[in-house]
Amino acid sequence: MLLRIDDLHVHYKSYWYVNQVLNGVWLRMDEGERIGIVGETGSGKTTLLKTILRILPQNSSIPRGTIKYREIDILKASEAELSKVRRSEIGMIFQDPMAALNPVFKIKDQLYDVIKYKFLADGSNPSKAVLHEHALGVLESVSLPDPERVLESFPFQLSGGMRQRVMIAMALLSAGKLLLADEPTTNIDVTLQDQILRLIDKLVKQRGLSTILVSHALGMVRQMTDRAYVLYAGDIMEEARTGELLDHPKHPYTDLLVSSAPKISSRRIGEGIRGKLPDYRSPPAGCRFAPRCPYAMDKCHKVKPKRTALNAEHVVACHLYE
Ligand code: SF4
Repeated sequence: MLLRIDDLHVHYKSYWYVNQVLNGVWLRMDEGERIGIVGETGSGKTTLLKTILRILPQNSSIPRGTIKYREIDILKASEAELSKVRRSEIGMIFQDPMAALNPVFKIKDQLYDVIKYKFLADGSNPSKAVLHEHALGVLESVSLPDPERVLESFPFQLSGGMRQRVMIAMALLSAGKLLLADEPTTNIDVTLQDQILRLIDKLVKQRGLSTILVSHALGMVRQMTDRAYVLYAGDIMEEARTGELLDHPKHPYTDLLVSSAPKISSRRIGEGIRGKLPDYRSPPAGCRFAPRCPYAMDKCHKVKPKRTALNAEHVVACHLYE
């Protein structure tokens, strides 16, 4: 198994309160798999990816849970072990390239840093010429035209699509085994989204990488993943093969999520899901979806549902199936 997450809890402390965001997340992933994580904005998807890399902000804490990446216990690993993982095993494409790239440094300086970090792992100190050659190579691998000009540019001088390609290039430098893609087409012109997705898909296949794609766009998840998890308010609600999950959702939340997605073939706009995500400062004691669920029973408000396996590949966390 490449990655195994169990009972993962993540909290954020604000001035007065503790926000209980992840609430016992589980996930399994084999080498070579393409996993999707779907859910609405604010459900904890980005927090989950950042926890895998242990790059959470300082006001966060992980009161419970385990993350096992290959033989490494991520939550107990030393800084040296984590650096090795971040340098050459797991890469991440961040959601907003304008926020992820440093606005006051040219692209070349930011790329050189990542490449140098990688070289340092083998104890070598590359010259400027070597860094430049590598940087050109990675920009060419993501099909960026005129890479010399891109290297000499500041992030604001590039279009959204070009910045995202730079982010993909940077992530690929570290992703020896696993690529985490956090909403990789957010903030990109809709005409370019398909190109970016195809590019990621091509590079992932060429390099034999495993991927976790986080998105609220169900079409993208269908196209690019083999298995998917549904995350709602920090809890995994359902897990199945992607086609099965989207075509035959079993959990009430997944069902509403799928039916509210706009479809080209339909003249109607989906109705959406009534209500909003719970307040993470005092989330519901039982099922976190209970305040919005049309099937909620008394028990749902008090007891957190257990995982129920409908078959070897389809798991639901809902009292209706226990
Ligand atoms: Fe709805 Fe209860 Fe199932 Fe939660 S556990 S999704 S509230 S039926």
